[in-house]
Amino acid sequence: MVQVIRRAYLLGGFGREERSDEQRLVRRQSLGTNAAEKELAEVRPRNREGEAGAPGSACMEARRRECNNLTSKGTPIMFSHNKRLQYTVRVNECNPGLANLMLEQFGGPQGELAAALRYFSQYLAEDDPGRKDMLIDIATEELSHLEVIGTIVAMLNKGAKGRIAEGADDQAELYRAITGAGNDSHLTQVLYGGGVAFTNSAGVPWTAAYVDTIGDPTCDLRSNIAAEARAKMTYERLMNCTSDPGVREALGFLMTREVSHQQSFEKALYSIQPSFPPGKLPPMKEFENVYFNMSTGDGDARGPWNREPTFAFREAQPAVDGGDGLPQVKVSPDEAALLRDAAARLKSDSASDPMTGAMLGSDGNAVGAKARKGPQKPTQPDTPSRH
Ligand code: MN
Ligand code: MN
Repeated sequence: MVQVIRRAYLLGGFGREERSDEQRLVRRQSLGTNAAEKELAEVRPRNREGEAGAPGSACMEARRRECNNLTSKGTPIMFSHNKRLQYTVRVNECNPGLANLMLEQFGGPQGELAAALRYFSQYLAEDDPGRKDMLIDIATEELSHLEVIGTIVAMLNKGAKGRIAEGADDQAELYRAITGAGNDSHLTQVLYGGGVAFTNSAGVPWTAAYVDTIGDPTCDLRSNIAAEARAKMTYERLMNCTSDPGVREALGFLMTREVSHQQSFEKALYSIQPSFPPGKLPPMKEFENVYFNMSTGDGDARGPWNREPTFAFREAQPAVDGGDGLPQVKVSPDEAALLRDAAARLKSDSASDPMTGAMLGSDGNAVGAKARKGPQKPTQPDTPSRH
């Protein structure tokens, strides 16, 4: 799994401000198992009690590294990796077709890469300390999910990968094995050699267009809530595609975490008051709570989305502003003259009936007339063609 070492957390430690027991516990739980972090965990309580801290002492040296995000070897860290997955992946049986479906949550629009980068981009620009902390926590957890789902894909592909790499089967048998019913795993198996591709389950490459961060928390949090809802549904559907208990369990965990994230984002949204409508400019009062019935025919339905007390229900009408509904623009006299010249040059002659290419190709008759005549006998060339 992926962990992030956060400078804000480290600077907020002893010597600068008091850290609560809960913060200390979270900090300790967040520590990984590598030697540098173990060392930090050991020296911290002593520091807090003031029992150590002489310049140059081991604990103060550790403190210096901590404040500078350095490992015990003096190299900088921002993200660190714990070799264990966030959730154990047990795959009962290789299944390249199922692996392909799982790609949806690896490189698809509702997938973990899109989620991780969505929250990471929001974290970078966020100034509110609470939301900033939440966004990097969830972004980092999504990276850990990416590792889990990617591992599931790789495990499901293991058997076929070996067969292809070693040419164990004859060609026809191998082809059948990797392109079984409803399974286009040839994409991941042959082209990627069992490596996990950043595509969705249909082979469409991942795109940054899946990340719709706009830099306003009341908009971004709403989009995040929707993204988590979609991710939850995709996991649910994937779970319905397999009876492998280990895969189902890991997917169930990933699905559950999306529910949890959805709740965090909702809480964060409603902790901004007011949060609706987004932005600072007020809506136009006369149109804010109006529902326009824009469709004709049977089937108009009324519900809380279009009825009192929230909405006034109005039939469609043009120019609701009371104007004439026609576009207007002011241009300079020079621009106006040029526009008139262009209009005169491009004027169409409604009295004309010009010959068209289609008409020339049909002996001067309209295409429709030729079609009505039915198929023609092919004409023989007057002279033999020379080749
Ligand atoms: Mn996730
Ligand atoms: Mn999530």
